[in-house]
Amino acid sequence: MTAPLVELTDVTRSFPGSPEVQALKGVSLALAPGEYLAVVGPSGSGKSTMLNILGLLDRPSVGEYRLAGARTGDLDDDQRAAVRARFIGFVFQGFHLMQRRTVLDNVLMPMLYSGIPRAERYPRARAALERVGLGHRAQFLPGTLSGGERQRVAVARAVVSGPALLLADEPTGSLDQVTSGEVMTLFEELNADGITLVVITHDRDVAARADRSLRLRDGRLEEPR
Ligand code: ADP
Ligand code: MG
Repeated sequence: MTAPLVELTDVTRSFPGSPEVQALKGVSLALAPGEYLAVVGPSGSGKSTMLNILGLLDRPSVGEYRLAGARTGDLDDDQRAAVRARFIGFVFQGFHLMQRRTVLDNVLMPMLYSGIPRAERYPRARAALERVGLGHRAQFLPGTLSGGERQRVAVARAVVSGPALLLADEPTGSLDQVTSGEVMTLFEELNADGITLVVITHDRDVAARADRSLRLRDGRLEEPR
């Protein structure tokens, strides 16, 4: 088997408090490069916590996360931010676009931190927008776009730096069925081009389109029934 791109080994994440919350309880997971995984599970089962750990936005309390073979626990915060900027893209349910900036500026933004030479940024942003079918919306403000279009801008922003790993937390949660289908098609195209994809979803139809799906239940990962 190819070496995993992503490997969680016995990961537990506890949040202090009274009582303490164990959001993840001994989660192990290996993802090969190019795999497309859907994660389902009820609200509060630890899905976002797992995605945040995979995205280096959070750390395990116990256990290990290896990304491309490297132990992420050994990285300091600056190194984690650099790895995140270069190798990981995020898409969230609520789009998280900068409302006062144009669509193009939103897509240019992550390249400020990913070490992509200045001269390449503009053509790459244009190409990413063309790819999601929104080249003609480059100078619009996000608020003037439909929900589906905003999510496609968020996808362009997530992939503009050429990440190996794309993480999506309920990306279709605010979309109707038709636009949700468009976003899923886009994910499939990106996956066909080699990106490794983890999508959290409540939607069975969305999960069914992945190569593989797993369920989180009360912080434990299991095969869905
Ligand atoms: P999901 O995304 O599946 O709805 P989460 O991963 O957001 O679930 O949350 C899992 C559990 O961890 C929940 O009980 C939640 O309240 C708790 N939790 C998540 N983040 C924090 C935090 N920063 N502090 C305290 N508890 C948290
Ligand atoms: Mg969540």
